[in-house]
Amino acid sequence: MSKIIVLGLGAMGSATAQHLAQGGHPVLGFDHFRPPHTHGSSHGETRIIRQAYWEDWRYVPLLFRAWELWRKLEADTGQSLLQLTGGLMIGRPDSALVQGSTRSAEKFGLAHEILSRAEVQRRHPAFHLREGMVALWEENAGYLNPEACVREQLNQAARCGADLHFNEPVTAWQAHPGGSVIVTTAQREYTADHLVITAGPWAAEVLADLNLRLTVLRQVVYWFEPQAHAEYFDRLPIYIYDSEEGLPEMYGFPSVAGSEGVKVALHGTPSVCRPSNVDRVIHAEDEANMRNRLTSTLPLLNGRLLRAETCLYTMTPDKHFLVDRHPHYNQVSIAAGFSGHGFKFANVMGEILAGMATGQPLAFDLGLFSLNRFFP
Ligand SMILES: Cc1cc2nc3c(=O)[nH]c(=O)nc-3n(C[C@H](O)[C@H](O)[C@H](O)COP(=O)(O)OP(=O)(O)OC[C@H]3O[C@@H](n4cnc5c(N)ncnc54)[C@H](O)[C@@H]3O)c2cc1C
Repeated sequence: MSKIIVLGLGAMGSATAQHLAQGGHPVLGFDHFRPPHTHGSSHGETRIIRQAYWEDWRYVPLLFRAWELWRKLEADTGQSLLQLTGGLMIGRPDSALVQGSTRSAEKFGLAHEILSRAEVQRRHPAFHLREGMVALWEENAGYLNPEACVREQLNQAARCGADLHFNEPVTAWQAHPGGSVIVTTAQREYTADHLVITAGPWAAEVLADLNLRLTVLRQVVYWFEPQAHAEYFDRLPIYIYDSEEGLPEMYGFPSVAGSEGVKVALHGTPSVCRPSNVDRVIHAEDEANMRNRLTSTLPLLNGRLLRAETCLYTMTPDKHFLVDRHPHYNQVSIAAGFSGHGFKFANVMGEILAGMATGQPLAFDLGLFSLNRFFP
């Protein structure tokens, strides 16, 4: 049976190792660190999962499968990973957020409602909506615990025989058309039949030969103490809230049992960096930007800042993922550029990548994620 190496064991890599090992394939995995860790993109206690996907309805079939696989992982491990809260997409009726979510919901018959500004505020008094705003309410939305998901995917992989090497960075790899792949780590050289590259924010460095147009953005997430009515935040759904200019800008979560403060963040702040030089200090200006948005959207949350941390987005030019074979080496697969919305798909991406590595027919159309859209 062919041997497969997975380079990077974060969200996507741990899922790939899990699916390969569960399918009985010899799999060897490497990571710089010991995931889950705080150096990449898969930490911070919560990740939104939803189905009425505003970004493009072509993601919805993948989301159905992802939802099924998260529930299966819960059943297999006895861990609670996905909390259902419902979701609110708040914006003007003609915004990409509201229109795109409505389109996906209608196309796939997903349970949803369009709520007026008054109705949102009646159900969830913590929110302030500007005049003219509405919200799409979606029933099947909630959040995942990213650290627990990654840990359980790795545990499942190891239980099924995956050979996982933590704290062993890959320093180089080489492939020859039609031949095997040689991977060099800080320790030694390994040979395999297929290489899956799931390096997250390091992808552009690992694939430097391709000059991928990936941009790494520093993001800050915050946990604030509500000024009053803490109970409003216990019942909050997950939400995405448009900016004044009509772009999805702010998102957040309800209070989470066992965690101090209520998490909120701004989506896609333009702070370009590299994983090796990211500024992990939270500056007064970061906090001021966040507080400024809270004043007009969730004023009761503008209380004491309990903690904040940085995380990394890896953006493609069109914000759709990059999942494809390497253009020069058929025995190398790539999954990168998850553009700040990939976590919820990790397990289905793992299943797809495992299928690509073992020559299975693909169950999904991956045209939206093809590499040649950037190199026509
Ligand atoms: C603040 C924030 C909020 C987000 N919110 C959401 C959300 O609500 N919902 C959602 O669906 N998505 C969300 N995302 C996006 C999502 O978290 C990411 O798309 C996803 O986690 C990316 O997973 P990954 O496996 O590509 O990267 P990672 O999990 O970072 O994994 C990459 C791994 O590769 C390893 N690696 C890299 N290079 C090497 C090497 N040379 N040798 C060995 N190991 C290597 C790294 O150590 C790392 O462990 C958010 C992201 C951020 C930053």
